[in-house]
Amino acid sequence: MPAAEICEHVFVTRAGASDRDALDSTDPAPDTAGGGDRREPGILHADLDAFFASVEQRDDPALRGRPVLVGGGVIVAASYEAKRCGVSTPTNERAAKALCPDAIVVPPRFEAYLEASRLVFDRFRDVTPAVEALSIDEAFLDVRGARRLLGPSLEIARRLRATVRDEVGLPVSVGVASTKFLAKVASVSAKPDGIFYVPCGEELEYLHPLPVERLWGVGPKTSERLHSIGVRTVGELARIPPAALGSSIGRAHAAHLLAVSANLDPRRVVTRPRRRSIGSQNALGRPRYDLDELERALLAIVDRVSRRLRADDRLARTVTLRMRFSDSTRITRSHSFGDATDATARIGAAAHDLLGTTRALIRRDGVTLIGLAASNLVPNDPFQPTLPFGRAGRADPRIDLALDDLHRRFGTSSVVRASLLEHARLREAFGEPLYETDQSGRD
Ligand SMILES: [Mg+2]
Repeated sequence: MPAAEICEHVFVTRAGASDRDALDSTDPAPDTAGGGDRREPGILHADLDAFFASVEQRDDPALRGRPVLVGGGVIVAASYEAKRCGVSTPTNERAAKALCPDAIVVPPRFEAYLEASRLVFDRFRDVTPAVEALSIDEAFLDVRGARRLLGPSLEIARRLRATVRDEVGLPVSVGVASTKFLAKVASVSAKPDGIFYVPCGEELEYLHPLPVERLWGVGPKTSERLHSIGVRTVGELARIPPAALGSSIGRAHAAHLLAVSANLDPRRVVTRPRRRSIGSQNALGRPRYDLDELERALLAIVDRVSRRLRADDRLARTVTLRMRFSDSTRITRSHSFGDATDATARIGAAAHDLLGTTRALIRRDGVTLIGLAASNLVPNDPFQPTLPFGRAGRADPRIDLALDDLHRRFGTSSVVRASLLEHARLREAFGEPLYETDQSGRD
């Protein structure tokens, strides 16, 4: 059955007006109407579109809308404009140019891709701590726990795409489904630059008409064998008796494919071992020389880092300010607390002081990236309260917790801590966006 376009490149499996009406007219999505959201798919597979080429197009306006090949000799990535000419990667430069003579070849800049990846994963972890990285540009997110505060899965997917586009300047496609396997299949259907949402109960309706090559574990050899026994679609595969399939491609492989063709995938989203530090950073594009402007960017980062500490039930003993200057040199400045903390006000005050120590460097060289990391982390054990009590300057933790809740519900720029603002003019300036992307000042 053909997929139906809903709005802003959102596709669901079921065609017809009922879905369109439901999704457009009511928010949250219709499947929460029947009481609770248990019947809502909770796994997102987020995959950046033509990642390396998109970073190149983001950073050089002259490349936008044009076929771009990243590499030299060997082409490792192609923009969608180049893919439309039939270029698939990896390939060699000559073959790619033969298909796409107008293509512009640019050398890879892996540092830039790593930095973009860090920024994107930062945004993923704003949605949920349950993020499983599959590679530099794709991840699974389990959003089941986040829905009560952030809304239905489809809304979370929409907002995630908008955040990555606005704050990092890159397109990301998202598949939403009930299992990891199916979410990954769906993100391919979402490309480029869209969402593909598979409602609960309609998984097989979406999956079965697809060619078997869309399944994980079906490479050219398996594909050939399956074709030879008359299997071309996932639905045809699902109907083959297990013994017949086993004798063709081997029992273990057959069992795996039959399971996924029935959307049986019990794997959970696995997060990495607990991190040793929690950090966030912002690329600023053109160099910034203004201390107040940097302070604003840093305050937003402080909010983000301290919120994550609290979400992770951890306290930090050390905070480290990181900066990169226009000549690509980097510096770090650290501060250690007498007692570990997760309080935004204390972390913010330390960050402010650290920034102040770099004043001369900022004026001379201009800052292109600013970040803050919290490290020397310890568990926040409520049964072992930090001493001494009543210490001056210790903020009421209830304020932070209430703000965390507001941020989750209304977005990170909904509420700003006036107590962190040193000057009234900073407070006024908070009408501006808190985050800069690499594109600012370029076009
Ligand atoms: Mg990708």
